[in-house]
Amino acid sequence: MSQNPVFIPGPTNIPDRIRKACDIATIDHRSPRFARIFDPAIAGVKQILRTDAAEIILFPATGTAGWEAAIQNTLSPGDTVLAARHGMFSHRWIDLCQRHGLNVQIIEAPWGEGAPVAAFEAALADDKAERIKAVLVTHNETATGVKSDVAGVRRAMDRAQHGALLLVDGVSSIGSMEFRMDEWGVDIAVTGSQKGFMLPPGLAILGVSPKALKTMETAQMPRTFLDFTDMRESYAKGGYPYTPAVGLINGLAEACEMILDEGLENVIARHHRIAEGVRRAVFAWGLAPCAARPELYSDTVTAVVVPEGFDGTKVATLAAEKYDVALGVGLGEVAGRVFRIGHLGSLTDVMMLSGLATAEMAMVDLGFPITLGSGVAAAQDYYRNPMEAAKIAAE
Ligand SMILES: *Cc1c(COP(=O)(O)O)cnc(C)c1O
Repeated sequence: MSQNPVFIPGPTNIPDRIRKACDIATIDHRSPRFARIFDPAIAGVKQILRTDAAEIILFPATGTAGWEAAIQNTLSPGDTVLAARHGMFSHRWIDLCQRHGLNVQIIEAPWGEGAPVAAFEAALADDKAERIKAVLVTHNETATGVKSDVAGVRRAMDRAQHGALLLVDGVSSIGSMEFRMDEWGVDIAVTGSQKGFMLPPGLAILGVSPKALKTMETAQMPRTFLDFTDMRESYAKGGYPYTPAVGLINGLAEACEMILDEGLENVIARHHRIAEGVRRAVFAWGLAPCAARPELYSDTVTAVVVPEGFDGTKVATLAAEKYDVALGVGLGEVAGRVFRIGHLGSLTDVMMLSGLATAEMAMVDLGFPITLGSGVAAAQDYYRNPMEAAKIAAE
């Protein structure tokens, strides 16, 4: 049976080339053959994170384990970390820290806003004793479709002359949106295999700065499976402390090659173009994204706020049941108030049109005050000539 693409913000569609690369015969991961798979994957991830300085670490796990590894390897129980809560993923990271016995200094921000740079700066400037050991930023809040200004947070930390680590969740941005690990002074970047890298789930992918590696020497948090030290010692000998996800790592090398062949800039531009078409559709429906302002718009996921009296969850449920198309539901505080359109990974303008058309059918089926074709036409107009459309908008 033929299958529709998915329009959820992860897991994303897997290109055949990557699926085939994951499907390899068993090898002995303690033999030199492993390094021939591993080394190109690591080199590729470094380029995609735009880092020369960081070490790349891959766990057979998911993004959540990446968060856990970031805090276990750099912090001690009782340490203070600074975080904003403005969506389900920033909330879950805070929860994870609290369960690890960290003292989380939480700045509450509306869902639909990004990480509050000015509030971070004030908190850091206040913290003369440097109690705050790490600042946590969710680069792309997948629940609300909001992009945060990581470079701005770095500048705020520098202005406050604060030495905390900058830990960034880039799970739904890395490989799809601008991400500059070295330039932004990110100490740990966390992502997973099943979003921008277009792989099946199963790899936590981390970039770790020299400063974070140094902090590790004094961090007292218990860790075994996710210990960077064990991993680095094994990597140095061309191996792993346990069984690596060899097929996924081979797929990761292929994914990096695909991204770099297309050109990272082009991949980022494609995501922006596809996202902009989605946003034009949303406005043509008479609706709006959950993200409060244009500079917060995510290029990988749009949370569409549904009209008063309607249920966003039903849009996704009906699209799945009737049309066999996956859209995302709202999470946490915005459950029911939005449905989400994922537009990252292996997608084209034309594939996106089918997702928009399906969302329209589902909304019309549910009695939304929307005209069939209105959003699709707005996106078509944009995709026909994105440069022209941008120029008209600027005039
Ligand atoms: C998907 C996602 C996660 C969780 O990753 P898993 O791979 O599901 O563990 C964390 N943060 C963000 C921003 C995400 O989009």
